Amino acid sequence: MDWWNQESKEVGQSLGTSLENGLSIEEGRKRLAEKGKNILQHEGTDSGIIRRFFAQFNDFMVMLLIAAAVISFGVSYLNGEKDFIDSIIIIAIVVLNALLGVIQESKAQKALEALKKMSAPKAVVLRSGKRAEIPSEDVVVGDIMLLETGGYICADGRVIESRGLKTEESAITGESLAVEKETKNFSKETALGDRKNMVLSGSFVLGGSGRAIATATGMNTEIGRIANLLAEQDDQETPLQKKLGQTGKTLGMGALAICAIIFVMGIMRQEQPFNMFMTSVSLAVAAIPEGLPAIVTIVLAIGMQRMSKKNTIIRRLPAVETLGSAAVICSDKTGTLTQNKMKVVKISDYGKQRDEEKRQLILTLFALCNDCRREKEKLVGDPTERALAEAAEEGGIKLEDVQKEMPREGEIPFSSERKMMTTLHSMGDGTWMTVTKGAPDILFDCCSKCLEGHRQVAFDGSKKSKARMQNGEMAAGALRVVAVAFREWKEKPDLRKKDTVERDMVFVGMAGMIDPPRPEAANAVALCKKAGVRPVMITGDHVLTAQAIATQLGIYQKGDTCITGQELSAMSDKDLYSAVSHCTVFARVAPEHKVRIVKAYQQDGSVVAMTGDGVNDAPALKVADIGCAMGKSGTEVAKGAADMILTDDNFATIVEAVKEGRGIYDNIRKAVHFLLSSNIGEIITIFAAMCFGWATPLLPIHLLWVNLVTDSLPAIALGLDPVEEDCMERPPRERESTLFGGGLGSKIMVEGMMIGMLALLAFAIGHIYFDQEKMYVTGRTMAFAVLSLSQLVHSFNMRSEHSLFAIHPFENRWLVGALILGTLLQVGVIMVQPLATVFKVAPLDTTEWLVVVALALMPLPIVELEKWKDRLLDRKGEGKELVS
Ligand code: ATP
Repeated sequence: MDWWNQESKEVGQSLGTSLENGLSIEEGRKRLAEKGKNILQHEGTDSGIIRRFFAQFNDFMVMLLIAAAVISFGVSYLNGEKDFIDSIIIIAIVVLNALLGVIQESKAQKALEALKKMSAPKAVVLRSGKRAEIPSEDVVVGDIMLLETGGYICADGRVIESRGLKTEESAITGESLAVEKETKNFSKETALGDRKNMVLSGSFVLGGSGRAIATATGMNTEIGRIANLLAEQDDQETPLQKKLGQTGKTLGMGALAICAIIFVMGIMRQEQPFNMFMTSVSLAVAAIPEGLPAIVTIVLAIGMQRMSKKNTIIRRLPAVETLGSAAVICSDKTGTLTQNKMKVVKISDYGKQRDEEKRQLILTLFALCNDCRREKEKLVGDPTERALAEAAEEGGIKLEDVQKEMPREGEIPFSSERKMMTTLHSMGDGTWMTVTKGAPDILFDCCSKCLEGHRQVAFDGSKKSKARMQNGEMAAGALRVVAVAFREWKEKPDLRKKDTVERDMVFVGMAGMIDPPRPEAANAVALCKKAGVRPVMITGDHVLTAQAIATQLGIYQKGDTCITGQELSAMSDKDLYSAVSHCTVFARVAPEHKVRIVKAYQQDGSVVAMTGDGVNDAPALKVADIGCAMGKSGTEVAKGAADMILTDDNFATIVEAVKEGRGIYDNIRKAVHFLLSSNIGEIITIFAAMCFGWATPLLPIHLLWVNLVTDSLPAIALGLDPVEEDCMERPPRERESTLFGGGLGSKIMVEGMMIGMLALLAFAIGHIYFDQEKMYVTGRTMAFAVLSLSQLVHSFNMRSEHSLFAIHPFENRWLVGALILGTLLQVGVIMVQPLATVFKVAPLDTTEWLVVVALALMPLPIVELEKWKDRLLDRKGEGKELVS
């Protein structure tokens, strides 16, 4: 339909909607049910549970196992043994493993989807005459969309009202400049990019406001037509996941090489080729750390869920990881560090004596140039404006009265770039007046006169410096100051020419308001500093206001510097790089400065977090390593550009998220540490026995069982470990630091050797002292039990680099659960007769169990000794540093 060629009324009629009230709530619901959701469908994005189950088999290790099962089956069949237990067990374990994989994956998937929903874009529409904020996907054709600066447009629509409505639609039309929207008709032939009375889904509002009737949704929109050409969602794999995937592959190749060697060695020693083949395959399964990427995904997903309960919604998975290495947090002041509960505490009438009449004039002007509206007796609107409106009402001036007397005929909205706003009023006698309020230091330069009594006199050098001084005094007292001025016009001025309208004005006075710091902010700042993370304040406010608040919060300290937007503009990038190292406050900055600030801090490789809420903050949010958008006050565009959303707009929440991020990284490290040291333990057991010329101490099914069943329980439980309190007492992790840094690699080797030795010892003791028939069964049973139980015990060592007894040892209930369940399963496999037959083990007696338990507990004292030695070395190292 050529909606752009029809009058708004006609469009309304054909779509069955009222231009004033929109659709009724019931009609909206009905249309949604009939026509479906307003979403873009990509091909092949959803995969059912069956598909996911089979996807689990698309893995090298699983294929290897299936091949082994088939070969084992074939060999037994050819030999006429009819002993298919091995094949069945392998297949059973493979299926069990795939099921576990599906369960884990769907849990992670669910968590991610829930979070996606939380951060899904919202749309504002009229329903039954009322403003309603609904998920974008519920918008239907015929809805009246209320378009505001910073909002996404989620459906195509015919514009029916435009108050300076400007949109950015480069994603759809390729037009990179802002497009001003109109309501008049356009001819049928008008090309897509020139239909200025239409808005397009996928674009967003750059400035102004307006209304539009939704004419198409979902796949029927212009963007819907090209949706399948669009790239899929961003790459959600984190650097760590990628790195681990690669590490896994390398380790896997190494393991395969070892298996090949073992196979060849076995053949040379004239072992049966089939047995050697099975041993090599199970060893490969033991050695390939196939569980790693899955564990990381789960830990990340669970971490995200945990963070969402603490007011942080993660939009991009990699951010969780990056958070842990954040070194600088650049935060907005108003609302994030402060409460955004403004209250006017001082009116400066800039006169010699207190002049009641002038005071009233100042308040009247503030009431005129004000966007607050009244809803149920309460004033709603921007906190700065509300504070001014409330001050006017306290002075007996009612917003509605003055606005009725001098009706508003137009406005130039407030912007953080200009730091001013202007309204135009008709005076009733054919003349006009513009009222401008804004940041004093900027407004002063636009005023040529000021009021003295009733007289307008020149606003000359000495008067200006006096006004500046008053502004400075208020700002230094941590007040946010707004000045007001007016200009009279004989003819209606053209507001599009901002530069001529906001000039030659008459300065009248100023208002100073307090905005107290958030009570939790000072603590969060202190915690940040302890953790080696640098908090930096960025604000549009006056430098003295900013400095005063930053000092109260502990962000600014003696010796630090403040940089203003003006100074920043004059600096070269190189100057800025060196200047930021001492700077903790950026004042009077405009959003476009933020990108340069982020880049300057990133220069030395630091990971930088940055907050933002407006459309113009989007580029900085993207450039920052961790872009944080405000959940309450943020625009949809800022949220779309951010990596995470702070649902309470609070600085302390970012710090909490950094702590969680560090905890999550630690937990991943713990899981990797555990899995790899266990895998190495298994390889060593087999390899060493082979080198000693012993019989093989563990059968293929034993290795498979330990690897795929008992091992995965503690690994997941470690991912759920509570965040260690002291994780905020160390400096941030370096961006490039490897997972195996800090001696982790050698620890994994040593502990792997320990587990291998314990299993070998169990085998030897069992074989020499307890095995009457000397068929290795008791030895193998004991080696099997020690291997699996010692790993369960060893998992507790992972919890902290401190002694286990310095922390609460059983705090992680999941890990305790994993220990109990793992032990029960292990004991069951050995003691329940049919299972024991399948696993080719023999039930143990009390003495044998005692030996097993004693050996399985050994990892505790051994690793405690290792930790003690590390602490001793650390202390010595510190001592040396002190001496030198
Ligand atoms: P941040 O949120 O980044 O800390 P901010 O919100 O304090 O910044 P801006 O909103 O850009 O910064 O405000 C900058 C200055 O503009 C304020 O110091 C004030 O003087 C002036 N100002 C703020 N709001 C208004 C408004 N609604 N009308 C006129 N002037 C305003």
